[in-house]
Amino acid sequence: MNQQVASEDNPYAAMQARLDLASARLGLEPNLIAILRTCEREITISMPVVMDDGSVQVFEGFRVQHSTARGPAKGGIRFAMNVNRDEVRALAAWMTWKCAVVNVPFGGGKGGVVCDPFKMSKGELERVTRRYVTGILDMLGPDRDVPAPDMGTDGQVMAWFMDTYSMHRRSYLPASVTGKPIDLGGSLGRVEATGRGVMLCAREALKHLGMNPNECTAAIQGAGNVGLISALQLARIGVKVVAISDVHGGLYNKDGLDLAGLRKHLKVQRKLDGFQDGDRISNNELLELPVDILVPAATENVITSRNAERIQARIIVEGANGPVTANADKILDDKGTFVVPDILANAGGVTVSYFEWVQDRMSFFWTQKEVEERMEHIMVDSFAATVDMAQRFKESNRIAAYMLGVDRVAETTRMRGIYA
Ligand code: GLU
Repeated sequence: MNQQVASEDNPYAAMQARLDLASARLGLEPNLIAILRTCEREITISMPVVMDDGSVQVFEGFRVQHSTARGPAKGGIRFAMNVNRDEVRALAAWMTWKCAVVNVPFGGGKGGVVCDPFKMSKGELERVTRRYVTGILDMLGPDRDVPAPDMGTDGQVMAWFMDTYSMHRRSYLPASVTGKPIDLGGSLGRVEATGRGVMLCAREALKHLGMNPNECTAAIQGAGNVGLISALQLARIGVKVVAISDVHGGLYNKDGLDLAGLRKHLKVQRKLDGFQDGDRISNNELLELPVDILVPAATENVITSRNAERIQARIIVEGANGPVTANADKILDDKGTFVVPDILANAGGVTVSYFEWVQDRMSFFWTQKEVEERMEHIMVDSFAATVDMAQRFKESNRIAAYMLGVDRVAETTRMRGIYA
């Protein structure tokens, strides 16, 4: 069962298309579907910021809460030039389903600022962050809405976030945001969490398909926190990583990339350019390589109806949010590609964000081993539940994961009732 989406590149339409399919399979009441298709609360702000040269630039910022049915809204803040309202809405809804798939007690939210963090000075970035927090302050709080890093933001941005929020509330409130530096109440294992979750999903997928990691190759799109750590983690379980890319293009070495060297290079240069290993390839070429595992870990809409037919990987593990369009789903299904969908594959990040929030509220911190073991348990169980659902309903893993998540959100919404 599948349905074509007219505006293939609109991620919100893509999210709704999958939600509609999952709701139909679950037999959800139309009233509930209507609630889940829309976002609970949205804000758009204009943010005047004084730049280093004394000029004032007005930035546009968003925060969207898709659902708080199961707990405070949870989800990252994206700093990027192409951020727009429908993208943030989709990302917020994906957070709702993601938190429900791994069964952590959060709803879904997302935020964004239209800016280029790589072109701003540290001071400008700090002023943008503080202005953004102040602009959305009324939506925030450890029991309301708890942001985290996403594309273009990091631990430093979260530190400014936590400081601004705490100053306004006249209290020390580290549980107001996750992905913070360790000394500010961050959790051990949070930085690696998303990439490690990708590896755990790939490992479980290989096991499920009877494939030996030591005989497999992988291509990774993206060399940021998710892409690079996924590559390093896959290598740890014996997979040969033959290709990786960033926004400017990729590298392909069929004998396996020198990942230790690459990590050092990226730490200093922050881009692949200048690293000598293998052949230069484009991002599109990377996606179509003859590999066993493909990890799109960069951005949305990279596998579409235009290139899905040419994807050769047996397994796709979605490190990014929304890398495959709804129209490409059917093509991949027909080819028999084993897709681990974003709302499961990259849920390691928010799972450890949940641990961070719990530790901050207890003011009692866990060891790396405790974090890793608890996270592995959740990821392995959620993978098994998704595959089991897919087999029982003869559905794709994506629709199965949506069914798992949507059913949980629907059930809490039903129990809470409609307050009118
Ligand atoms: N931005 C990440 C995601 O899309 C992490 C969100 C979080 O930890 O709250 O899952």
